[in-house]
Amino acid sequence: MKYTSTRDRSISVDSASAIKQGLSKEGGLFLPRSIPQISAGDIAELASVGYRARAKRILGLYLTDFTDEELDYCVNGAYTAEHFGSDAIAPLVPLDETANILELWHGPTCAFKDMALQILPRFLTTAMKKTGEKSTIVILVATSGDTGKAALEGFRDVEGTKITVFYPNDGVSRIQRLQMVTQRGENVAVGAVEGNFDDAQNGVKDIFTDGEYGERLLEGGYKLSSANSINWGRLVPQIVYYISAYCDMINQGRIKNGGKINICVPTGNFGNILAAYYAKRMGLPVNRLICASNANNILTDFINTGVYDCNRDFYTTISPSMDILISSNLERLLFELLDGDDGAVRGLMAGLKRDKKYVVPDSVREKLGSFMSAGCCDDIRTKQTIREIKEKFGYTCDTHTAVAVGVYMDYRRDTGDMTPTVIASTASPFKFNASVLGAIEGEQSLEGKDEFELLARCEKVTGMTAPVSLTELKDLPVRFDRTCKKEDMRDFVSGVLGI
Ligand SMILES: *Cc1c(COP(=O)(O)O)cnc(C)c1O
Repeated sequence: MKYTSTRDRSISVDSASAIKQGLSKEGGLFLPRSIPQISAGDIAELASVGYRARAKRILGLYLTDFTDEELDYCVNGAYTAEHFGSDAIAPLVPLDETANILELWHGPTCAFKDMALQILPRFLTTAMKKTGEKSTIVILVATSGDTGKAALEGFRDVEGTKITVFYPNDGVSRIQRLQMVTQRGENVAVGAVEGNFDDAQNGVKDIFTDGEYGERLLEGGYKLSSANSINWGRLVPQIVYYISAYCDMINQGRIKNGGKINICVPTGNFGNILAAYYAKRMGLPVNRLICASNANNILTDFINTGVYDCNRDFYTTISPSMDILISSNLERLLFELLDGDDGAVRGLMAGLKRDKKYVVPDSVREKLGSFMSAGCCDDIRTKQTIREIKEKFGYTCDTHTAVAVGVYMDYRRDTGDMTPTVIASTASPFKFNASVLGAIEGEQSLEGKDEFELLARCEKVTGMTAPVSLTELKDLPVRFDRTCKKEDMRDFVSGVLGI
């Protein structure tokens, strides 16, 4: 299997090289030249084995340059009961007659990013060995909150790597910030950027595409790579859990093998839902993909109108990991919908940079509309949804998951589509405890309580145990308290590396 770039089809590299580089040198995103297929027979086999075996089989279809032993090393080291609470790894919980919650947050940092970031460092170190890499790989991350911590935890003290994470100073929850600024490890650094997530992400992208700076790094023995979902190594492990969820639906008697499902995903950078799209393209029987946004509903508008327009207000919401206006991974979907027309993708992306806006041809909008629906849910409705499903089903979900549940309930009511549906649950309710408790008990219940009193209260209300990785934050020293302007991000990196 070879990989090419959304902005230059003449590029053709192995998965090891695509994962090591992160972003293609002309700024495009790597993606597979063809999409491997799975049959109903394959699905029946996968349904009879556990998560690790499912993962190995599906990853092997994409990472064809990895040996059997290398895949074992990656999969068996990442998806352990120790890291994910149990061997289920990504359990599926039925909610009502059609809705099923796919819990993707049982990993070490309590958000779905762990599903990819526990395995990405293993892919990367394997890729470095395979390609004879001598430089130290420097992972640069822009985070809207959850990626940063998951990447720090995944890469901490991984030999041959260093990691620097930038987060928007005012854009993350208190727990998220504490998780990052107390990070352990000798190869890690964290900086707050004065700006929002898009500023941080653009800053990182600028560093990546600065050729001169790349030379300077190389002289110092460093090469950049990315742990953001622009890296194919982030995307591919996410395909696994949608296929795994389908297997679990069969095993739980929710569908028969071959029966269609819908998949609804709370979306920010468009990585998670893009993985569901690839699962569908592989032959997983998927009826519709439902893209759920919060008040930053640029994707809802795009999917419904074909106009992608960033010239709009940016909202800080209670689902901060989805507070994004520039969804990077959409570029991969555009490439697919444009039948691999790299020139057309370059044109749209240039328009985005120049005008903060682009419009796709009607044919692309129609193709998209044939399998994808979209909806949005503001903070008031998100809180209402958390309260309602707690009352109705005794199930507590976090704010991001609630956005998806809310959008799904609207979709089902408006369309009458009763296809069994998998809803991606992307974070533990404990990670966004203040908003979750505020929704269930009212804002007055939060008064005078610090983060850790809220965790304890959340245990009472949900009947669940708070993850130790969150309760222990109370006693960990703050290691990283520096803030920088977005134009100083490069200097920050230089400072960390001593170049
Ligand atoms: C990252 C994140 C999202 C958005 O996922 P994308 O792949 O960026 O679309 C949603 N919810 C949570 C909790 C997240 O951490």
